[in-house]
Amino acid sequence: MAHCTNCGNQLAEGNKFCSVCGTPVPAPEPIPEAVPAAADPQPYYAPAVTAEPVISVKTKVLGFVGMGLSIGGLFFAVLGILYALIGMVEQGLGFAFAIAFGMFSMPLSIVGRILANKSREEGNLSNVCSVGSGVGLGGIFATGAMLFLGIINLMI
Ligand SMILES: [Zn+2]
Repeated sequence: MAHCTNCGNQLAEGNKFCSVCGTPVPAPEPIPEAVPAAADPQPYYAPAVTAEPVISVKTKVLGFVGMGLSIGGLFFAVLGILYALIGMVEQGLGFAFAIAFGMFSMPLSIVGRILANKSREEGNLSNVCSVGSGVGLGGIFATGAMLFLGIINLMI
């Protein structure tokens, strides 16, 4: 319970003036209420900022380019396998075409996979990166299979 600063009279709660001498009662300091009100918003802002994933345009483009190169690599690798199979049946240009396609498919698959993986490492969780990485690996294996068929073809 507060007391009057002038006469020392015990002040009733809510009174704006002392009931004995009429001295104005100073308003209670709003600091205890203001401090938590000002401090509260900060913990709410901080998680909101970190929870929102920020992916740059460059990272997104990297993922798309990686997927495109990987798909191109796998396409040439499949063509190379087809021509290698043709070369095994019919001696002719089959194997030469297979090697030519392999020269495209291997670097495309490797670079495509690297770019897709880099985009994913930079925080791009899009399926584009998974497809680019997976297809790139498929292209590398398919080119390996194509070269394996070519070596068998030379040994026959
Ligand atoms: Zn008083």
